[in-house]
Amino acid sequence: MRCEAAKRRLVLLLHEELPPKASVRTKDHLLKCSGCRAEFEEMRGIFRLLRWVGRVERERAQARARSEAAKSRTLELMRREFARQDAEAARRERERTSPPGSEAGDPSNPPL
Ligand SMILES: [Zn+2]
Repeated sequence: MRCEAAKRRLVLLLHEELPPKASVRTKDHLLKCSGCRAEFEEMRGIFRLLRWVGRVERERAQARARSEAAKSRTLELMRREFARQDAEAARRERERTSPPGSEAGDPSNPPL
């Protein structure tokens, strides 16, 4: 097998997707040819790096998703707390502006 032919098969060999015969012949060539072997090793290094980068990117995306979830949980808790405080303030305001017992529907002071 010539270098050209071997080089065309390196990617497939790397991913173990060559038919058995072609795989054996390409490996034979790599044993004999240091130039193609060097290229194969370089390619292997690059793919390893790409896989690593992919993994880092996935982990980063997961971390981002987790932090987004945490942020929206916090916002939801804040919204609920503000709503509670608003309701509390409104209740106090009602108590302040209407003296006890004067509210319509107050069972202790039925309308006449
Ligand atoms: Zn070669």
